Amino acid sequence: LRVRGCTLRWNGNDRQGILLVFYDMTQLRKLENFRRDFVANVSHEIKTPLTVIRGAVETLQDGAINEPESARRFMEIISTHSERLNNLVQDILSLSLLEYRASGEGYDLVNCDLSLPLASAVKLEQPRAEEAGIRLVTEIEANPQVRIDVQLIEQAVVNLIDNAIKHSGEKSEIRIRLHTEDGNAVLSVTDRGCGIAPEHVERLFERFYRVDKARSRKAGGTGLGLAIVKHIMQLHRGSAEVRSRPGEGSTFLLRLPIVKSGCASGAS
Ligand code: ADP
Repeated sequence: LRVRGCTLRWNGNDRQGILLVFYDMTQLRKLENFRRDFVANVSHEIKTPLTVIRGAVETLQDGAINEPESARRFMEIISTHSERLNNLVQDILSLSLLEYRASGEGYDLVNCDLSLPLASAVKLEQPRAEEAGIRLVTEIEANPQVRIDVQLIEQAVVNLIDNAIKHSGEKSEIRIRLHTEDGNAVLSVTDRGCGIAPEHVERLFERFYRVDKARSRKAGGTGLGLAIVKHIMQLHRGSAEVRSRPGEGSTFLLRLPIVKSGCASGAS
């Protein structure tokens, strides 16, 4: 708590008083710490691939460029780490755009069936799933109307399916389910992957929080995917949560308020 005070005089000099102003600094301090941590994290995330790229370029300049096999290997390293930097910049831009949109501007809300962004996200992720030998199964038990920015919800579902693919074994199955619960629309993504230990579950939606840093980086992760999902859900007055059992798999759930109930059925 910061207190500022001053002495006041009025009616000439014969009346005096003290004005005290109390400032609650808790939120401000929190915001300062949050920004400082974010900048430190971003710098670290940028430095790591840059160091690798610089090392590879120097090795090529020192002669590796004349040996085709080495040249190919170092070019691949440069390509992988440039891709990582690119993903990081994209995710940071997405997050700052979401923060700007949190002020209520720059997004496009429409009433639509929740199956719409679900179907387009599944279509986008299908090639990646096939490449990993994983089957995407969609179950539409209800198709409620929601008021959403379709592209943003699609992005949230893509992030969840992408994570499920990264953390599932080959020949696995990922279920993407749509149903209603307590007057909310619920979209869930369930995998039979490695699962998440309870001590990590609470922190998963924090920026740059990863259970296994090396594994996440190797898979091209930025550590921002779930933070983006959380922001998107907050913008829609919805929520994101996770239920998981180590060794058995995880379910990520997105909840959204229903505008008007609709209904459809079917599974594919
Ligand atoms: P990343 O880019 O590392 O995937 P995310 O924010 O998307 O970042 O996820 C944060 C962390 O949560 C991941 O690094 C991983 O440890 C964990 N995680 C996310 N989804 C899953 C999942 N389906 N199964 C197991 N762990 C997961």
